[in-house]
Amino acid sequence: MAVDSTHSSPLGVPASDKDAKALQFIEEMTKNVDSVQQRVLREILSRNADTEYLKRFNLNGATDRETFKSRIPVVTYEDLQPYIQRVANGDKSPIFSAHPISEFLTSSGTSAGERKLMPTIHEELDRRQHLYSLLMPVMNLYVPGLDKGKGLYFLFVKASTKTPGGLLARPVLTSYYNSDHFKTRPYDPFNVYTSPNEAILCIDSFQSMYAQMLCGLIMRDEVLRVGAVFASGLLRAIHFLQNNWKELAHDIANGTLNPKVTDDSVRECMKKILKPNPELAEFITKECSKEDWERIIVRIWPNTKYLDVIVTGAMAQYIPTLEYYSGGLPMACTMYASSECYFGLNLNPMCKPSEVAYTIMPNMAYFEFLPHESSASRFVDLVDVEIGKEYELIITTYAGLCRYRVGDILRVTGFHNSAPQFHFVRRKNVLLSIESDKTDEAELQNAIENASLLLKEFNTSVVEYTSYADTKQIPGHYVIYWELLVKDLANTPTDDVLNQCCLQMEESLNSVYRQSRVADNSIGPLEIRVVQNGTFEELMDYAISRGASINQYKVPRCVSFTPIMELLDSRVVSKHFSPCLPHWT
Ligand code: AMP
Repeated sequence: MAVDSTHSSPLGVPASDKDAKALQFIEEMTKNVDSVQQRVLREILSRNADTEYLKRFNLNGATDRETFKSRIPVVTYEDLQPYIQRVANGDKSPIFSAHPISEFLTSSGTSAGERKLMPTIHEELDRRQHLYSLLMPVMNLYVPGLDKGKGLYFLFVKASTKTPGGLLARPVLTSYYNSDHFKTRPYDPFNVYTSPNEAILCIDSFQSMYAQMLCGLIMRDEVLRVGAVFASGLLRAIHFLQNNWKELAHDIANGTLNPKVTDDSVRECMKKILKPNPELAEFITKECSKEDWERIIVRIWPNTKYLDVIVTGAMAQYIPTLEYYSGGLPMACTMYASSECYFGLNLNPMCKPSEVAYTIMPNMAYFEFLPHESSASRFVDLVDVEIGKEYELIITTYAGLCRYRVGDILRVTGFHNSAPQFHFVRRKNVLLSIESDKTDEAELQNAIENASLLLKEFNTSVVEYTSYADTKQIPGHYVIYWELLVKDLANTPTDDVLNQCCLQMEESLNSVYRQSRVADNSIGPLEIRVVQNGTFEELMDYAISRGASINQYKVPRCVSFTPIMELLDSRVVSKHFSPCLPHWT
């Protein structure tokens, strides 16, 4: 659609009138950050003035920043847990929000080993959808012609649970894909997916992936972008193709559907898509049976212009593998969001992954920033952050989280108008992560302690340890390096016992880890590599040779630096793997 030039935005020339409106909205929000933030805080505090939480801190109807900051404490999930538990148990009184809590969103962050439950209200769906609606108008500025084809996106839902009080608890994307906002979205030529809703909404992950991959293969010439939410999800899809291409090619050749896909609605919708196409089946067979899978994405989907996946934060570890499979296609990280709140978007989505900066949209929530690793505990507002500095993100949401620490560390890289842009630095306290799992130092330590109990009868203890998230293979897995002190050489721990130690560690890790391991199969068996005595001392020598202080040296509990990995691996005396799956329900 031609757009008249009066619609042109400082961000670029919009691809349609609809895009022009979206870009104008971004301009308005980013020019008026502080007034929008004041309005958002006023709205949240006035509508929630009579909630138990705000009343407890005697806000007495005040809606200004100063009173808010002086009376309301900054909190973590653990501080809110007693309130959240009451809501989960069925207390319908206005505890956090004047609007009823519509459901809980289950975060991948955990508390005491279980997923955090984030309260949400119905209207948050509108806010989330609105943020989504800004993504393509920005992308269209950089990649023309996306209305001429489709997006192959691997999107999944998970089974929902109910809290004792009857509220649904499910991941935020499961909630969104099941909403009318997604299911009955109006046709938009710039946002056509190859995956039918029925395939996305099928809770069996094999059937869902199978149907989505089949559609992607059938429509291969139309595919202009390939994506998943996180890089790990896209790699999982490639791995799925590696394991299932024969059956997929068989279905394509014959126009049939694998009997392993049993979901009626998926079968029904695939009927309309499947037609015998022996030529395509032959092509898939030829490409997939090659030993070498380098550039497989562009070989199968030759019109792909970019990958749409988040490769910032913990996902950066997957960049080299994605580059290998895609022949170096650009990777677009379009947005930054969480179960608590969607934060913002990348206004320059075709930039290099290392340069990605997210612009927080001031209408989403009220944002504060705690300077990271500085003695000053002065919380600054969105407009007051400074370029180059790192901050911890604190949010106050419409659903009633007040001054809540998200746990993300962000660095300011620049501004668009008066809106700061943030590089995602890392999540606080996360040591190991393969996909949505996040294991912190305390959890790892606890798991080591539990596992080392099995060594007691061998008069053996773990004297040092470190860890590594090995994502070179799919699925990735945790590797734990152990240096052991064996006091009785006639009675050393057997292979079997060390394998059991791997399992015991897995049993001790949080429920997101165990779910990924058991239900999603997206993490492989945990591995313990026993290293020679003295290895950790060598590690310390190495660190000191590079300038570490002997006084302050601490064994890194997670490693990824190549020379350190090489040192550790050259000292390995035995390797052990978890012999079976841990428990998960
Ligand atoms: P969850 O609560 O499970 O939805 O996870 C939300 C968390 O995922 C955020 O707080 C971030 O730590 C991380 N995250 C979300 N979006 C991004 C992104 N674009 N880049 C890096 N990390 C992200």
